[in-house]
Amino acid sequence: MPELPDLLHIRNKLDARLRGRPVSAERVREPVVMRFAVHGNLSLLLGRALREVGRRGAAIVLRFEGLDLAVDPMLAGRFRFAEPGERDPVSLAFALGFGDVELRYLDDKKMGKAYLIASGDWGAIPALRAGGIDILSPEFTRERFFSLLRRRRDQVRVFLLDKKALDTIGNAYADEILFEAGIHPKTWCRAIDHEGAVRLHDAIVSVMQSAIDEVARRDEPIDVKVRDFLKVRLKDVCPRCGSKLRTAGVMGMDAFFCPNCQPATRPGFVDWRKTGV
Ligand SMILES: [Zn+2]
Repeated sequence: MPELPDLLHIRNKLDARLRGRPVSAERVREPVVMRFAVHGNLSLLLGRALREVGRRGAAIVLRFEGLDLAVDPMLAGRFRFAEPGERDPVSLAFALGFGDVELRYLDDKKMGKAYLIASGDWGAIPALRAGGIDILSPEFTRERFFSLLRRRRDQVRVFLLDKKALDTIGNAYADEILFEAGIHPKTWCRAIDHEGAVRLHDAIVSVMQSAIDEVARRDEPIDVKVRDFLKVRLKDVCPRCGSKLRTAGVMGMDAFFCPNCQPATRPGFVDWRKTGV
């Protein structure tokens, strides 16, 4: 699933290559991914120039005169600029031609959604209606973060993943942020003290910004997900202390953490530091 650093990279690459170009062709191979909140279909875009590419939550938004096409890739969706003569892969869901360039949306699981709406009509898309605070914006201050955190009655990892609170953190970066802050993923929000909250806020900003910089620096094609620099997600050994990393189930998701650098704070948890394992 693309996360914020991936989405920003994709947005920038799409914007740089396609902005100002009119749509010259459209093809839909998997109608199951399409959602229309206007009368008509993708052919409404023909002849309209792409004004800009933006992001809303987990979606990439192609903004045209009068219409927005918002694509939420969910688990497996990805964009690709087709090379000349490139054959259609079986995962092709739809494609937009922009003169000599074809932008393809591929989705092996067909779980992603492409919404065509009147410009700015976000009320038509419940999944994208309520956005949390943009964690990259100047409004994401310590004070705003503390006030959000204080109201929570759930586990910290669930809070980090809540798109209605924070825009936007996914599974991979939730693990990286909690590792950076030294906080166990199952910690209750209300059990986090002031110093922990400061560390957590700092970690959100620093982990996301350095990941954005790294993904931009690597400048891979838009269908390549750059994740090899992550420290704990899908890794075996803690890069800080050498302990074996562990996983914990949090709301049905596997969280990766270091039992030494992120000690459990809830009673009843096994304290791995004391078992000698
Ligand atoms: Zn460690």
